[in-house]
Amino acid sequence: MDITLKTTKQQEFINITSYVREAVKNSGVKEGVVYVFVPHTTAGITINENADPDVVRDMLVTLDKVFPKQGDYLHIEGNSHAHIKASLMGNSCNVIVENGELKLGRWQGIYFCEFDGSRTRKIYIKILNG
Ligand code: ZN
Repeated sequence: MDITLKTTKQQEFINITSYVREAVKNSGVKEGVVYVFVPHTTAGITINENADPDVVRDMLVTLDKVFPKQGDYLHIEGNSHAHIKASLMGNSCNVIVENGELKLGRWQGIYFCEFDGSRTRKIYIKILNG
């Protein structure tokens, strides 16, 4: 299944755990793996802390410090910083499905990472039974 997401900021992390959980529930799969893929070059996906929102804030601020918008980049579109951050986060994640639930750690959430918003984005979700 595909999810369409409208991002509203230039850079933001959006917790998509509930969407992934819903997709697993609707699939009826009890034991397997869910595969989440982001088909974009300036957005990524990561799993990290969902309890303290300051963690996301700190990640965004630090990524900006290390890869600022203005830098020694050649890419004419002017968004090399976003391409680099997207590659660092990666474009997919996998979570084990057990008893019909995502087997995430207690403090983990799945985040869509926007680095060149605002835009309309897609997320592909595939649930494998087994
Ligand atoms: Zn570009």
